Amino acid sequence: MVESVFSKIIRGEIPCYKVYEDEKVLAFLDINPLSRGHTLVIPKIEVAYLHQLPDDYAAAIGRVLPRIARAIMEATGAEAYNILQNNGSLAHQAVFHVHFHIIPKFKDSGLIIGWNPHRLLEEEAEDLLEKIKERL
Ligand code: 5GP
Repeated sequence: MVESVFSKIIRGEIPCYKVYEDEKVLAFLDINPLSRGHTLVIPKIEVAYLHQLPDDYAAAIGRVLPRIARAIMEATGAEAYNILQNNGSLAHQAVFHVHFHIIPKFKDSGLIIGWNPHRLLEEEAEDLLEKIKERL
């Protein structure tokens, strides 16, 4: 597997503006921010997709994500933000190392979302529940 740029950032071989670091987690400013304060939070393990992330790294990220978001909101004065986590190129993932975007939302900058929902059908819901639950 080709190593991602984020592993090089973790090892300090590529510089970053470090926001937070502990044993299992690193957070740094995105190099091409959608808005002021746009930050990436990553596990210190080279795993491409969220569903491949070991529980201890998932827990470590979950523990600090709200705290980092809180600090970014206070520092930027943003009152809204999006957490974005892309998996797969079809879902706009460009760096294949799990990462959570924290993207402050301002009137003129931040994440723009295309959202085209359909109404959930009863048979669709029942079929999905059965298939998902047996795999959990
Ligand atoms: P994705 O589309 O994979 O969810 O987002 C990857 C993000 O990583 C992008 O927002 C991009 O700007 C950011 N990024 C890519 N390379 C670097 C880098 O070398 N340094 C930093 N700080 N951010 C990067």
